[in-house]
Amino acid sequence: MKAIIFGAPGAGKGTYSTRMQNQLGVDVIAMGDIFRESVKQSTPLGKKVKSYVEKGALVPDDVVGEVLKERLAKVPKDKGFLLDGFPRTIEQADTLEKIAKIDVILQLDVPDEIIIQRLTSRRLCKNCGTVYNIRFLKPKKEGVCDKCGGELYQRADDNEEVIKNRLQVYKTQTEPLIAYYKKKKVPFIVSTTKSIDSPPEPMVEAMLSELKKLKLA
Ligand SMILES: [Zn+2]
Repeated sequence: MKAIIFGAPGAGKGTYSTRMQNQLGVDVIAMGDIFRESVKQSTPLGKKVKSYVEKGALVPDDVVGEVLKERLAKVPKDKGFLLDGFPRTIEQADTLEKIAKIDVILQLDVPDEIIIQRLTSRRLCKNCGTVYNIRFLKPKKEGVCDKCGGELYQRADDNEEVIKNRLQVYKTQTEPLIAYYKKKKVPFIVSTTKSIDSPPEPMVEAMLSELKKLKLA
């Protein structure tokens, strides 16, 4: 399957992506990661990307297209891929269109209040980075990582103001893309979270069974 996953920051894209990767073997491609990989490899293309990143400039769409093309060429033909964090603009969607035909859009629909509650109660281990949540994924001992005993902390940008801002940016960015793919009649699978306590597993299962119906899983 060739898929894109859309979901606001904090909507749980990581959970879904990891399951798709484990269960279906799809190659999860996070755009931020491939830029980092590309820069590290110091290929001619990597050097080009680096020159923009170092200046703090936006990598232009044609370069993004090249990086993506190079990365998609490595995807096992029988497995497919799941794009996370790309496309972000209509121009990028057009670029992608020239490289691969998208079979399905996975859309995570989580109300803002739930995302805010989820992110403001998130805690991370200073030492190993494990993520906890003081509401529903509590460590055994308050403030201490179960895995390594490290100290847990709250990210400075996990506060309501910043989160609301990020959600607004996400919406402004994503709405035109949703319309773009609907117009192209690409099938959508929408996963809607109704409560902060809904466990992700059954929702991921539901998504997998919808993918089966589309013969993509
Ligand atoms: Zn830890």
